[in-house]
Amino acid sequence: MTNCIESVATLNNGLQMPWLGLGTFTRDSGQAIQDMIADALSAGFRSIDTASIYKNEVSVGNALKNSEVARKDIFLTTKVWNEDQRKRRTLQAFEESLKRLGTDYVDLYLIHWPVADCYLQTWQVMEEIYRSGRAKAIGVSNFLIPHLEDILQNSDTVPCVNQIEFHPYLTQTELIKYCQNNKIQVAAWSPLMQGLIASEATLLRLAKKYKKTPAQIVLRWDLQHQVVTIPKSVTTNRIIENTQIFDFELSDQDMSIIDALNQDKHLGPDPANFDF
Ligand code: NDP
Repeated sequence: MTNCIESVATLNNGLQMPWLGLGTFTRDSGQAIQDMIADALSAGFRSIDTASIYKNEVSVGNALKNSEVARKDIFLTTKVWNEDQRKRRTLQAFEESLKRLGTDYVDLYLIHWPVADCYLQTWQVMEEIYRSGRAKAIGVSNFLIPHLEDILQNSDTVPCVNQIEFHPYLTQTELIKYCQNNKIQVAAWSPLMQGLIASEATLLRLAKKYKKTPAQIVLRWDLQHQVVTIPKSVTTNRIIENTQIFDFELSDQDMSIIDALNQDKHLGPDPANFDF
């Protein structure tokens, strides 16, 4: 059900995650991050996506502390960075994130990237963290099918979420199908193609047809694909605009038209080939 901003996906461990969340990866820092989150909470967002590498967890934590929205009503995601995996300090990194965020638990903890020769061991620590109750769910990000198969074959815990680059130029249909078949919820990063949606002719045409904006068309397309979406904006009116996606439905034909924009084009790094 994706008919209101309170709509949630149910993860494979029963935890409920809002379909719409706020991305926070931005060069802005400090007060700008806090203002963005305050605006987003006022607009109805209840899910916030951060990561230790964004260096904004303190600001995210302050924004949550200053908000009238109770911590229990927020779905908070953060991620373990690659260097912490390499140095085998995932548990310590997690505890440092909690401290910066000013909370004693996160809703979702993710392995940020599938660092070769590390991610299986990282996953074991993630399982320990999950068992301790300090992460209500654990998952992965940027994992391709072989990485997921590796986890499924070597662990009893199926990741709750795989957060991947997903937008009209990169639809990753096989990976999405694999995740859905294995009850791994897909979440889309860079859903708005880092702003490029505003100049995509097909999206502009569909926006006119539905009396919506290109951003709203793409975010709705995510929902109808059963993909959690986490657009980032520091702009108040865009933050509000990005919530207005629950009052219309794209036809099957228009869904296919957007699907056909795929170019297998990564705007960020390709998980099959990254070196950081
Ligand atoms: P997005 O696709 O969310 O695009 C953000 C850009 O779109 C900004 O320039 C923003 O501008 C603009 N924008 C936002 N709303 C609108 C709108 N309604 N109309 C037009 N333009 C709009 O890119 P991100 O790369 O930020 O991805 C989203 C989130 O995903 C990140 O913030 C982060 O939390 C996560 N992420 C995760 C990764 C991973 O490896 N797991 C990698 C990358 C991102 P402005 O802010 O100026 O309004």
